[in-house]
Amino acid sequence: MVVTWLTTASGALADTLITNARIIDGTGSPATLGSVRISGDRIAALGNLAVGDADHTIDANGLVLAPGFIDTHSHSDRLIFAERDALAKITQGITTAVVGQDGDSPYPLASFYAALEAAPAKINVAAYAGHNTLRDEVMGADFKRPASNEEMKAMSALLDQELAAGAVGLSTGLEYEPGIHSEIREVLQLAQLTADAGGRYISHIRSEDRWFDDALEEIIEIGRLTGMPVQISHLKLAMASQWGRAPWVIQRLNAAREEGIDLTADIYPYTYWQSHMMVLLPKRDPLDLAAIDFVMAELAPPDGIIFTHFPAKPDYVGMTLTEIAAARKQSPAKAFSVLAQMSIGHEAATGEMGDMVIGTSMRDDDVAAFIAWPHTNICTDGGLRDRHPRGAGSFPRVLARYVREQSVLSLESAIHRMTALPAQHMGFGERGVIAPGMIADLVLLNPDTVTDLATTSEPYTPSEGIHSVWVAGQRVLHEGAVSEAFPGRVIRRASVQP
Ligand SMILES: [Zn+2]
Repeated sequence: MVVTWLTTASGALADTLITNARIIDGTGSPATLGSVRISGDRIAALGNLAVGDADHTIDANGLVLAPGFIDTHSHSDRLIFAERDALAKITQGITTAVVGQDGDSPYPLASFYAALEAAPAKINVAAYAGHNTLRDEVMGADFKRPASNEEMKAMSALLDQELAAGAVGLSTGLEYEPGIHSEIREVLQLAQLTADAGGRYISHIRSEDRWFDDALEEIIEIGRLTGMPVQISHLKLAMASQWGRAPWVIQRLNAAREEGIDLTADIYPYTYWQSHMMVLLPKRDPLDLAAIDFVMAELAPPDGIIFTHFPAKPDYVGMTLTEIAAARKQSPAKAFSVLAQMSIGHEAATGEMGDMVIGTSMRDDDVAAFIAWPHTNICTDGGLRDRHPRGAGSFPRVLARYVREQSVLSLESAIHRMTALPAQHMGFGERGVIAPGMIADLVLLNPDTVTDLATTSEPYTPSEGIHSVWVAGQRVLHEGAVSEAFPGRVIRRASVQP
């Protein structure tokens, strides 16, 4: 790497001075015109700054300079060592990914962190410890039941170890195996342990459709009893007869906050999700045609179900259930049943994932209302090579669609939900705001052109309008070109020293 321009004649590291920037500092305050000085890995100053002799100067030409975006629900852990450039993320302006989501975390975290520190990525990584991962370690294949006291003790011991390694808290995925079989007392015991260690709780709640209200009460109860911050992952109303209830949900969330519960949410800006077919069938019975009819009518219409992964018959990838059913000369419900059985058969035979589907289940007015709730921050819920466009497009999509097109949020408010707000929700004290002394994770973007280009058929297409990205003072993206720097760090829970 050529760094000659970064050193002064005396050999000291030069500062970078970004001039002519429209600075949006992340707090929600109005933009100001000025310069930002980066010294080493920190922001040294901002405002009307004189150019020093040794400064490396970058003219922002009036573009927006913001703190690097913090993705509070990321699946980037899965491919991070293969894709340390994290292109799908840095091209959105994301500088920090919080992984270990939906109850599923790299295990043990100490090894994951050590590997990341030996071969850093371009982005910072923080992780939750996943309940499902711990449950799987302790209960193995015998998981379709509540845990015994002995098993809960064993899970607690593992959680202690993950918290000591620096986990930011506990994540649950209560709609997935094996956590779906847990009772609230099991979750509460682990949550209390997390709270006692100064951690936080994030959850893919037990239901996002049929039993949404009960699931909401469960996370509120966990926040109430433990006193720690609790966050609803990818907040959504994913059922036709629930559509339009966002104002009611927000009232309930506000009431919980007024009670003193530190309840927040994150969201990705799409009306469709991606998961496995069987998540739609809580009893996990692919022969239950009545349940499948309910899915088609209420949860995901056949023309809104797109297969994104189907190794048992790869031809189906990219097709909707309606198209597949027509090709098979079956009703959509019957085709769903047969394909679910094929997926289960593939998993049993190979041990590999049998399917992934995109399901169109949400309505845009609910999505917009949840984005506008002052305690919602933006996330991707995506991986580094996600077949759902959220993996490459979520943050720019908010700026294009909900700021520029629909005026749901001001630019400052949207950036707040991508920076200082998630930093606060995750307990990151040194990131998320442009201020002297903060770590220099920054993004320079064009607010008039920034947009997502990823689609369900071209999900990897990078976003447009992200000009430059810095992580810990080093530029990782420069006018769309990827640098050689890998400055990403492991972010441990504030109370834990490496
Ligand atoms: Zn989830």
